[in-house]
Amino acid sequence: MLVLLKPGTPETTANDVMTRLRMAGLAVHRTDHDAQVRIAAIGDLSAVDWEAAKTWAGVESLAKLAKPFKLASRAFRPHDTLISVGRATIGSEKIVIMAGPCSVEGEEQAFTIAERVAKAGATVLRGGAFKPRTSPYAFQGLGEEGLKILRRAADAFGLAVISEVMDTAQVGLLSRYADILQIGARNMQNYSLLREVGHTQKPIMLKRGLSSTIEEWLMSAEHIMAQGNQQVMLCERGIRTFETYTRNTLDLNAVPVVKELSHLPIIVDPSHGVGIRDKIAPMARASVAAGADGLIIEVHHDPDHALSDGPQSLYPDQFDSLVAQIRTIAGVVGRTV
Ligand code: PEP
Ligand code: MN
Repeated sequence: MLVLLKPGTPETTANDVMTRLRMAGLAVHRTDHDAQVRIAAIGDLSAVDWEAAKTWAGVESLAKLAKPFKLASRAFRPHDTLISVGRATIGSEKIVIMAGPCSVEGEEQAFTIAERVAKAGATVLRGGAFKPRTSPYAFQGLGEEGLKILRRAADAFGLAVISEVMDTAQVGLLSRYADILQIGARNMQNYSLLREVGHTQKPIMLKRGLSSTIEEWLMSAEHIMAQGNQQVMLCERGIRTFETYTRNTLDLNAVPVVKELSHLPIIVDPSHGVGIRDKIAPMARASVAAGADGLIIEVHHDPDHALSDGPQSLYPDQFDSLVAQIRTIAGVVGRTV
């Protein structure tokens, strides 16, 4: 149930309403919008006499939160969620560009790429230290050493850090080095991991599962938010379809659909969505035109020798021209880079 308070309701009255709802055994979440307190009360709604609740001090009106995802819905929070990370405000009119290698491979590699992507206009450095690889014999990442390198490279060029957390046991470690915790596509429905990152106050980037519907994806965001962490951004990274020419099928439909259903920012990852170097730029441009709040792109200075995802990594020069194009497209849709 969504409980809307009268504009200007004193804090003590708002707190009384929330206490009454909690006493009925409901989980209570609050958001403020245009000087109005909006309270989501979630749980067994039969525990409250809602007719009576309409007459409680401070209550203006009630509305059903009809969607299965409640905290992630626009009904709860009509305004866009903004997430501050380093120099970026994700979800604002300024499009965030995250870029870097698929995997951190070493000091020289990370610094070389960080310098180039920072110069081009990225504000967040990506790089995996724990890699979810299809083959157990493929490079699995440098682990904590990789996180240290990534942090140093990012700091050297004024960038924030995003890196994937694969396991509940890694959440503390990742939180020490990264500014954004990435939940990979394969873990989108790992509910214990979602709960664990929901207990942190770190921004989370939740990638869409390989075969997940938009609703399942938003329900996964809900798992994180229900634990108290509201700083969630979604990432469309392509889904599995019958098409085999590209690595995945980048579902750009998801961008305007999510924008309608949810207040959470949406980032697009055309690198994993397409998987073919010369098809990344057109889909990155299309993502921005479709209304994405940001892009995450794999860049490597020597992709032929990359330890993962070389064939889909842009050369730094290609990334430079892509960012220039993105600036132009951003302007057309009322955004900046
Ligand atoms: C990645 O970002 O390197 C990655 C493994 O992505 P995904 O989880 O989308 O496959
Ligand atoms: Mn990758």
